[in-house]
Amino acid sequence: MQNDFGFHFDNTYARLPESFFSLLDPTPVPSPRAVLFNEPLAKLLGLDSEALQSERGIAILAGNENPPGGLPLAQAYAGHQFGYFTMLGDGRAILMGEQLTPQGERYDLQLKGCGRTPYSRGGDGKATLGPMLREYIISEAMAALRIPTTRSLAVVTTGERVYRETSLPGAVLTRVAQSHLRVGTFQYVAGRRVEGELRILADYAIRRHYPSAEQKPNKYLAFFGDVIRAQASLLAQWMLVGFIHGVMNTDNMTISGETIDYGPCAFMDAFDPATVFSSIDQHGRYAYSNQPKIAAWNLARFAETLLPLLDEDQEKARDMAEAELKDFSTQYNQHFLAGMRNKLGLLQADDDDTTLIRDLLQLMHDHQADYANTFLDLTFQRFEQNEFYRSDGFKAWRSRWEKRLEQNPQSWEQTQEHMKQHNPSVIPRNHRVEEALRAAVQKGDYEPLQKLLSVLEKPFAHSPEQEEFATPPEPTATPYRTFCGT
Ligand code: AMP
Ligand code: MG
Repeated sequence: MQNDFGFHFDNTYARLPESFFSLLDPTPVPSPRAVLFNEPLAKLLGLDSEALQSERGIAILAGNENPPGGLPLAQAYAGHQFGYFTMLGDGRAILMGEQLTPQGERYDLQLKGCGRTPYSRGGDGKATLGPMLREYIISEAMAALRIPTTRSLAVVTTGERVYRETSLPGAVLTRVAQSHLRVGTFQYVAGRRVEGELRILADYAIRRHYPSAEQKPNKYLAFFGDVIRAQASLLAQWMLVGFIHGVMNTDNMTISGETIDYGPCAFMDAFDPATVFSSIDQHGRYAYSNQPKIAAWNLARFAETLLPLLDEDQEKARDMAEAELKDFSTQYNQHFLAGMRNKLGLLQADDDDTTLIRDLLQLMHDHQADYANTFLDLTFQRFEQNEFYRSDGFKAWRSRWEKRLEQNPQSWEQTQEHMKQHNPSVIPRNHRVEEALRAAVQKGDYEPLQKLLSVLEKPFAHSPEQEEFATPPEPTATPYRTFCGT
C-alpha cells in the first residue's frame, strides 16, 4: 500500500522464524532535525523527498514515529570479531521495513543509532553525529565509485547528548541495503541447531539475492559459490581503489556482496600494503593487504554453517565446500588483474602484465607514492611532479609500460579516456573528511561537507574543482587513526 511518503513496504524478514529477530520500536528522541538528506537516493527508492523532510517525515527518520506499513525489528546475528566468536545482533539499529521501489527492487530501510534493543549488551544503542556523517560520506562515495555498498538516505540529529569519552551530539542514520543478511546471520542460525531454521534462512537468502541458484542441482552449493563470487569481486574493487574496511568481522560481511558497516574504514594515501587505520586493530589483522585473505577466512566460516545443507555426508559436504572456496582466490585474482589493466590502460591481456603490475606496486611502496594520484599521474602523463618519477626505478618501469601500451590497437587518446574511467579523480581522503566533519560537528557548518559530497558524487569527472580534493595530506608525525563508530 502506497502512502504520502511513498513507503511501499513488504516485510518478508518479519515472516521468518521468531528467533531470527525481536520486534520493537525505536526509542523516541527529544528534538530531531535533518542535517543530511539524499534526494537522488530517495527518488530511486520511490520516496517523496519533500514529505520526508517535513516535520512528520523527520520524526520517522528519527524513529519517533513508525513509517506507515513498517514493522520495526532488530535482527539477531552472531560473528567472529577479530577471530573470536560472539553472539551479537542489532544493538543499536532497527530495520523499519523492506521498501519496494518503482523498479520492483527491494531494499531494507534501517535506522542506526535509534536506541537499545535486546542485543545491545552493555551499549546504549545510540550513535554520535560524527561517525554517522562519516558513514554517509564514505558509503555514498563508494556508491559513486560503482562499488557495491549500503547507501545512506539521511542523517538526523536527535537533540540528545550521547556520552562516549566526552559528551557528543546524538544522531540517527537511515541506512539502505539490499539486505542486512550477514555471514554472522548464518552463524547465529546454524549455531542454534533448530531443525529446519537453517534451510529457511538459506532459502530466504537465495530467493532474495541469488534466485538463479534455485535452478542448480545443489542449490546451496550454488548459493555458496554465488556469495564467493560476489565477495571476490567486491574485495578486488576495494583493493583497486585503496579502501581499507578496518573491521572485517564475519558480522560485517554481507551475503549480498555489499560493503557494510563503515566504522574505522579509510582510504589509503601513500601506498603501503601493511596500512592499518583502526585504533583497535593492533595486530594488523585487517590491514590493506590482508583483506582478501580475511574475506576467504570469513567465507570458510560461512561454509561451515552451510555444511548440513550441502550433503547428508558431512565429510563429502566439507570436500565440496573446500573445492568451491578455492574459487575465491581465482576469482579475486582475475578481478584484480582485470581492474589493474584498466587502471594502466592495458586494453587487452598479456602474460607479463602480472609482473608489470607487481613491479609498479613495489616501486610505489618503496617510494611511498600516493596510491590514487600515481594512477592519475600515469593517466595524465604528469611525470615532472615529484622525486619518484625521476628515480631510475620508475623510469625503467615507465619505458616497459609505454612499450606495452604500443600493443593497444587504440590511439593514446582512447587509452587515456579508458584510464580516466578507471582512475578516480577524487576519493574521500581522510584529512578532507575530518575537516568536513569538524566544521559540521563543532560549528554546525555543513558547507564543507556538502562541498565534499558534491565532488565525491562524480569520481570519474576529472573536473578542475576536484583537484584540491585530490591533494594528499601534509606528512604528519602521528599516523592517521580511526575509531569504531560507537
Ligand atoms: P559494529 O562494530 O558497528 O559492527 O558493531 C558490533 C556490534 O556491537 C553490533 O552488534 C552492534 O549492534 C553493537 N553495538 C555497537 N555500538 C553499540 C551501541 N552504542 N549500543 C549497543 N550496541 C552497539
Ligand atoms: Mg557491525
